[in-house]
Amino acid sequence: MLSFSQEQLASALAELGETKAYRVTQLADWIWKKGADDFEQMTNLPPALRRELAARYTLRPLSVVERRTSAGGTRKLLCRLQDGELVEMVLIPAAPGETGTRSRRLTLCISSQVGCAFGCKFCASGLLGLKRSLDTSEIIGQIFAARREAGESMDNLVFMGMGEPLANVDNLLPALRLITDARHLGISPRHITISTSGNVPGLKRLAQSGLPVRLAVSLHGATDDVRSRIMPVNKRWPLGELLPALKEWQACSKHMITLEYILIAGVNDMPTQADLLADIAQRLRAKVNLIPYNPVPGLEWRRPTESACHAFWKALLARHIPTTLRYEKGADIDAACGQLRRRMM
Ligand code: SAH
Ligand code: SF4
Repeated sequence: MLSFSQEQLASALAELGETKAYRVTQLADWIWKKGADDFEQMTNLPPALRRELAARYTLRPLSVVERRTSAGGTRKLLCRLQDGELVEMVLIPAAPGETGTRSRRLTLCISSQVGCAFGCKFCASGLLGLKRSLDTSEIIGQIFAARREAGESMDNLVFMGMGEPLANVDNLLPALRLITDARHLGISPRHITISTSGNVPGLKRLAQSGLPVRLAVSLHGATDDVRSRIMPVNKRWPLGELLPALKEWQACSKHMITLEYILIAGVNDMPTQADLLADIAQRLRAKVNLIPYNPVPGLEWRRPTESACHAFWKALLARHIPTTLRYEKGADIDAACGQLRRRMM
């Protein structure tokens, strides 16, 4: 029932013979505002109605089954879906002073699929292939579960957990509409970031939706040969298709695109790549986020030395590209980007 709009709640109640308008408000309040995960908690609804709702619907599409906290306070939450599949989400607190404002403290990183079909060669989520996509209520259910765990609401939401969100647009778009609806979760679209490995048709559909969310693109290579070596998706949608699609996105979005670039030793950390990456960023007026590779057990890739990472960073800054170099939070508990996978912790 988490994926229901107010209108759908009204028809669900009507089907049970309950047509009073204030019942819809009560039910919506319990679900969206109070975050109830059991109809029995809804003490202002008649007990018979609660029982009938419980027999037909669930408010708990997933439950948190394991928790791990890193030294810096990042929390990884393992969730079990109703069919037993597992996904992970990560709660990331901003360090004091990091965001500059007290009002944006907690970021939630959520998953969009169980596993991933895109098979990037460096990523733990891609290792096992795609099991299935999350449905709308499972996408939203993560936010509710995280809110219960944290005891507070999220300030920022990023789709950087398991899966490729733009390969699941059918469920992503309805979820985004509810998440951003002021009557429901009311998270501002400008505090939501969708990260994509470059799924061009998905990108076009997201643009057409008109939702003013932020976009992060996992570029990880400034030429087709480097990109294709580590990201099979590049063979399907090479830079010649991806970059014009990003240009189109940029034309209708108010926000700067972020180009994510993980630095992998000997693969994409050469000065020529830095220079070509600067060309792309310049053309898109994008900012660049450099992330030294987080090692994944069983994979051969290595993180460049600190001085190599700094040299790459400086090369972009020298070209006046707004660039950050950040070491991921939560790497010690495998909660950093790309370390999430479908297994028990
Ligand atoms: N499928 C989407 C979103 C999930 S991955 C995407 O690819 O953008 C979230 C981010 O983690 C992506 O930028 C991805 O490239 C990055 N990532 C994957 N494996 C990583 C690793 N081992 N170290 C650092 N970042 C990694
Ligand atoms: Fe999938 Fe993103 Fe991992 Fe690539 S980086 S395998 S697209 S989750």
